[in-house]
Parts: sequence; structure tokens; C-alpha cells
Amino acid sequence: MTIQTFRTIQEMRTQVAAWKATGLRVGLVPTMGNMHEGHIALVSAALDQCDRVITTIFVNPTQFGANEDLDSYPKTEKSDSAKVATAGGHAMFIPSASEMYPAGFSTRVIVDGLTDCLCGIARPGHMDGVSQVVTKLLNQAHADVAFFGEKDWQQLAVIKRLARDLDIETEIRGVPTVRDEYGLALSSRNGYLNDEEIEIARKLNVILKKTAYDIAAGGFATDECMKAAKALMKSGFSHVDYVECRDADTLEMIDKAEGRSCRIFAAAHVGRARLIDNHLVN
Ligand code: AMP
Repeated sequence: MTIQTFRTIQEMRTQVAAWKATGLRVGLVPTMGNMHEGHIALVSAALDQCDRVITTIFVNPTQFGANEDLDSYPKTEKSDSAKVATAGGHAMFIPSASEMYPAGFSTRVIVDGLTDCLCGIARPGHMDGVSQVVTKLLNQAHADVAFFGEKDWQQLAVIKRLARDLDIETEIRGVPTVRDEYGLALSSRNGYLNDEEIEIARKLNVILKKTAYDIAAGGFATDECMKAAKALMKSGFSHVDYVECRDADTLEMIDKAEGRSCRIFAAAHVGRARLIDNHLVN
């Protein structure tokens, strides 16, 4: 199955303008490729709500730290395009690094507050890199709606904020996390894990769900999160970056749920993978 592929911003813009001129609603699904059912759920949500859907693949160097997996991040453009085409997507945008960051590029996008916690601290510079590339993609595509996964809840909150603060007209929508039959959130990085490590990885959502339940039942979040971190280590995770209960919108730390809309967030390492997940506390 073939799918239209744009390599330049100009090609994409010309097509989007033509679609919009005929009254079509355009959806954008930004990804780093190595597609799994989580990505395809974003494409499907976009297809439900839009007439034309562009899926982007760009492994953004500015959101990776020095010792992270930028060089080994899986590049599977052909099979990704085929999966998106099968799902019904209309076009891919796959720019080169020089198309995105031409010589002399010097602008950063920093969202204060929301990035001063969770992955913003555990991966210094990561959220700034995400803010930078997503701002660019939103400005490049001028889509009506853009879709992001709730698996990366902090990222979604940051993107909603930057779109609002910078008067970007594209509406930002979240899509629920797609999980395997054991509740493990699908992630490109799960592919780094062997069978034994996958078994360990599957404990993450189980422990988070129990912790969310205990906090909702009246437990002190700091105590319950501490217990969860210990349980993760006991289950075989090699390092826990954080387990924290925070307000779902402002990401402020919360100690007692008491009817507030809050979520539990965790990041932990197993094998070569750093996994993140989050659950509603209610
Ligand atoms: P990535 O390619 O990992 O940068 O992810 C691209 C988009 O897919 C982001 O908006 C992610 O939040 C979303 N995503 C990744 N994994 C999942 C999942 N398991 N369920 C739903 N969305 C996901």
C-alpha cells in the first residue's frame, strides 16, 4: 500500500493548504516512528475526527540526553509507513535533521513550571527539546487538530500549555494509553527487553494501579509512592527515577487525593529501557 510522503515543510504546507481550501479538516500525529498499536491508536483517533491525517516521523536529537539512545533508536520508516497506510492514514511527513534544524538554528522553547518535575528533572533538557520540536511541527503543518498519547502525560500537559501560550491555533487532543494484555503500556523501548525483563516491566502498571487505589482510599501519597518505589525495586527494576502523585493539570505535588483530579506517575529502568507510565487516582 502506498502513502503520500512529504520530506519538506513546503510540500506538506502546500498539500495542507489545498485540503483546507476544499473544507477538509486536517489531523496531525507526531511520532518518532517504530510504530506500535499505541501510535496507530493516535492515527485512528485522528481519522475519526478529521478528513485527512498526516503522521510525522522525526527522531528529534534535541530531546535526547548525551547518554541516551538517540543513535540506537530504531529506524523503521518503510514498515511504519505501511502500518499507517493500512490504518487509513493519508500522508507521512518525514523530514531530515537539516530540514528541521538548518544551519544557524538558535531558538529554544521553554515551558516553565510544568517541566520542573518528573521527566523534566530526570531527563534534563528533554522537555525543552520536545517543546521545541512540537512547536515547529505544529507551525509547519497548520493542522486543525494534533493528537498525543496520555502515556506521556507530562508531555501532553506541556504541549497543551505551549499551544495556548503561543496562540497556536491547532487544537491539542490526548488519546488514552494502549496496553498489552498484562497492562504494560506499549512503547518503542519495550523492544529493548528480553523475556525476563518484559515480565518485570509488566509489574509497573500493576504496582501503579495498587498505589493509585491506596491513595484514593485515603493513604498519604508520599508514603504510598515510597512503598511503590520499593516494590518496583523488589520486582527487579534496576533504578526508579520517580513515583509521584500530582495534580492532573498543574502537575503540582499532592499528598491527599481528597476528591482532586490527580494521577500517579512513575519512571523506572529495566534492562536497557527506561519505562514511564501514569494512572488516574480516583
Ligand atoms: P513516540 O514515537 O514514542 O515519541 O510517541 C509518539 C506519540 O505516540 C506520543 O504522543 C506518545 O504519547 C504516543 N504513544 C506512545 N505510546 C503510546 C501508547 N502505548 N498508547 C497511546 N499513545 C502512545
